[in-house]
Amino acid sequence: MVDALVNGRMLIAGGFESRRALLIDGGRIAALVGEDDPRVRQARVHDLRGALLLPGFIDTQVNGGGGALFNDEPTVEGIRRIGAAHRRFGTTGFLPTLISADLGVVATAIAAVRAAIAAKVPGVLGIHIEGPFLSEVRKGVHDATHFRALDDDIVGLLTSLTTGTTLVTLAPEVTTPATLARLAAGGVVLSAGHSNATYTDIESAFRHGLTGFTHLFNAMSPLTGREPGVVGAALYDDASYCGIIVDGRHVDPVVLRIALRAKRHDRFMLVTDAMPCVGTDQQSFLLQGRPITVRDGCCFDDQGTLAGTALTMAQAVRNAISLLGLDLAEAVRMASEYPAAFLGLGPQLGRIEAGCRANLVAADDALNVLTTWVDGEAMADQ
Ligand SMILES: [Zn+2]
Repeated sequence: MVDALVNGRMLIAGGFESRRALLIDGGRIAALVGEDDPRVRQARVHDLRGALLLPGFIDTQVNGGGGALFNDEPTVEGIRRIGAAHRRFGTTGFLPTLISADLGVVATAIAAVRAAIAAKVPGVLGIHIEGPFLSEVRKGVHDATHFRALDDDIVGLLTSLTTGTTLVTLAPEVTTPATLARLAAGGVVLSAGHSNATYTDIESAFRHGLTGFTHLFNAMSPLTGREPGVVGAALYDDASYCGIIVDGRHVDPVVLRIALRAKRHDRFMLVTDAMPCVGTDQQSFLLQGRPITVRDGCCFDDQGTLAGTALTMAQAVRNAISLLGLDLAEAVRMASEYPAAFLGLGPQLGRIEAGCRANLVAADDALNVLTTWVDGEAMADQ
C-alpha cells in the first residue's frame, strides 16, 4: 500500500513547499507530486494539517536515553530503548555511542549493534566508538585508565561491523598515519576528538583518512596565536565535518558563530551527546561508577566536569535558531542532511527526495514532534 502525506509544509532542496504530497512506498520516498495527482487518491492518505514535514534527524553522538546508557547496556534492548527515547524528539537515525571502555566492552557493543541492525531496531545506523584511543591531556569525563594506543592489531575489531556505519573518535597522536589509513580503507569514519594534536598532526591525519571532528571546541587543543591546534585545523579545512553541541553551555554561542563564519555551514552537524536522562525525569545517574548530576540540561560529574547533556535533537535545532541565528531550514539540515553526508549515507538519508529512505518528522512550528516515520513506518511514540 502506498501512503500519501498531504497538507504539510515540506522541507525539500529548494526550501519549504506546501502544495505537494509525498508518496511512500516500500519504505522509501517514491515521489513528490501535486496534491491532485491521481496516485494520491489511490493511496492511504495522512493529513498533516499544516504541520512541518522534515527529514528525520540523525544524531551521530548519543550515549544514552530513556534511562539506558549504552556503556552499561550494550544490548539490542538497550539500543532499542535509547532509539525510542530520542525518536520522540525527531531522531530517526542514530549511532549509539560508547564512551571509552576496555576492548572487551567495545567488542560487545559492536556485536550488540550488529544484532540490533539484524533485528531491525528502528533508526540504528551503526556505532560511534568514542575512545579509548584518546589523549589523557584532553580526557574530559572519560576514565583515562581505559586509554590505550591504537595499534594495528585493533584494526580488525574496529572494522568488524559490516552491516552499518562505524564512526571512531580518536586522538590522531595516539596512533600512526598507517593505522588511520587502514581504518579508513576498512570503511571506518574517522573523527578527531579528546585530542591534544598539533595542526601538523591533523594535517597528516587528513591525508590518511580523517574526515571529522567530535564536539568541536570541547576536549581538544585550542586555536592560539602560534599553534592552530585541533580547533584551528578543523576550522581551516574546507572538507571535514564538525559535530557541535548547541546547548548554550558546552560552547559559547559567539564561539560557534565564529566557527560558522570560518567554514561552510554544510560541514557542521548538530549532535546531542545525550545521556540516559533524556526522555526521563532522572536528575542523576552513574557513569562508570561515578555519580553524574543533571542540571539545566547539562550533566556534570562531582568535579564539575561536563559529562554529556540532556539535549534532544529537537532542542538542538531550536537552539541553533535562537543561539546561532540560523533559519529553520538550515538548522534542520544540520540535524539531517549534513550528518547523513558525513556518514556517507547522503544518497539515502537526510533529505526529502524521491529515492531516499522515508525517515521523516512531522512537527509543529515550535518543533514539538507530532509523528515520526522510520523506513516508511509511522512510529507510535508520541
Ligand atoms: Zn567526548
